[in-house]
Amino acid sequence: MSPTETTEAFRERAVAFLDAHAPLRPERSGGFTWGEGDDFVGIVEEGDPATEEEAVAAARAWAATRFDAGFGWIDGPTDQGGAGLGADHVRTYRSLEARYEVPDQSIFTIGLGMVAPTIAAHARDDVATAYLAPLHRGDLIACQLFSEPGAGSDLAALSTRAVRDGDEWVLDGQKVWTSNAHHDGIGDIICRTDPDDPKHAGMTAFLVDMSAPGVEVRPLRQMTGGAGFNEVFLTGVRVPDSHRLGAVGEGWGVALTTLMNERASIGSGMGLARGPGPFERLVELTRHLGVDRDPVVRDRLARLHTTHVVNGLTAKRAAANLQAGGLPGPELSVLKLAGTLQLLATADYVASVLGPALCADNGEWGTFAWTKLVCGVPGARLGGGSDEIVRNIIGERVLGLPREPR
Ligand SMILES: Cc1cc2nc3c(=O)[nH]c(=O)nc-3n(C[C@H](O)[C@H](O)[C@H](O)COP(=O)(O)OP(=O)(O)OC[C@H]3O[C@@H](n4cnc5c(N)ncnc54)[C@H](O)[C@@H]3O)c2cc1C
Repeated sequence: MSPTETTEAFRERAVAFLDAHAPLRPERSGGFTWGEGDDFVGIVEEGDPATEEEAVAAARAWAATRFDAGFGWIDGPTDQGGAGLGADHVRTYRSLEARYEVPDQSIFTIGLGMVAPTIAAHARDDVATAYLAPLHRGDLIACQLFSEPGAGSDLAALSTRAVRDGDEWVLDGQKVWTSNAHHDGIGDIICRTDPDDPKHAGMTAFLVDMSAPGVEVRPLRQMTGGAGFNEVFLTGVRVPDSHRLGAVGEGWGVALTTLMNERASIGSGMGLARGPGPFERLVELTRHLGVDRDPVVRDRLARLHTTHVVNGLTAKRAAANLQAGGLPGPELSVLKLAGTLQLLATADYVASVLGPALCADNGEWGTFAWTKLVCGVPGARLGGGSDEIVRNIIGERVLGLPREPR
């Protein structure tokens, strides 16, 4: 591999790797369900591992194989373990891998889509070097410790404390809805370091080891049947100052980096890149049910296709802006809202064409597999900024409407 490798040479190398390590995907892909936990951007296909432990082990094994072959962090800097190639190489590899049966990678969505960019932007160089490659290799699973029982939409109301003690900080408090906290990885946490400033200026961000003494993780069961998110209690948890992200008192800016990347990865359906896209799966299902000649069904499908294409173009525009060095902007909020609306419309469509087969597992292809999608979608309306909050942001920052009363 060389930093100047052409995309054609890269493609050849990637196909050789994939041919050697994964079977090609069959013509008909099956339905898809929402992730075992709350990972509303992930796909679990029919025939996937039955338990979360098996799925995580399979995901880690594939991430390690891919990383060791040079395809795990294609655009990462070589001095930190990346392959030093460009965005075109990433796109080429993703589109190739989508043709093969590989284990679902959505468990890494938070780590790679939100925490890794935050580390890259705000951690010390030695800390970034220590964590970024393990995150891309699947050795580490990351979580985002922002929400608290009294601080969700109004994140700046958070009260988890961090108090400096020499070269360390001591953390005490409670977080909630923390996806992936139960994998003993690392967490991107925002704490209050200045109790005299009850809002934005008194916050600082850290990277916390989720297996450190004083971290207690309690699972929360949700209606999909999974328990992918948790309550996290922190009692006297010690974090080295080297693991601070950004300057003391500037945690709000760090939180915005994570949140903007979160909106981008939810809105662009990052984890849905596995195999055929959701729209192709809807077409397969529609044909299977024999309703593809029904004009009302065709009309609904056409609307879904239109929004699917428009959202894809918005995602490309947002990605091009970031790649050109632009800052994450309100277009990511537009993308997040558009992605959520698309998911809601998809769930509604699926429920209407399947009827009772949505909930009755009679073993028929492509039917019961969609239940978790329908149960998981309401979560997408909250995670990463609720629809109402995202609409407020779009109203104020894109449309220039008057600010909402504070
Ligand atoms: C699937 C899922 C995964 C999640 N994963 C994580 C995670 O990994 N880490 C993490 O830190 N958090 C996570 N969250 C939490 C998520 O960030 C919060 O649910 C979200 O910020 C909303 O906060 P809240 O639940 O406290 O609701 P609240 O803020 O209490 O809001 C309740 C309702 O009031 C509305 N509302 C609130 N303020 C306004 C306003 N100013 N104007 C109009 N309407 C308003 C909201 O839209 C919402 O409908 C997750 C949530 C979900 C659903």
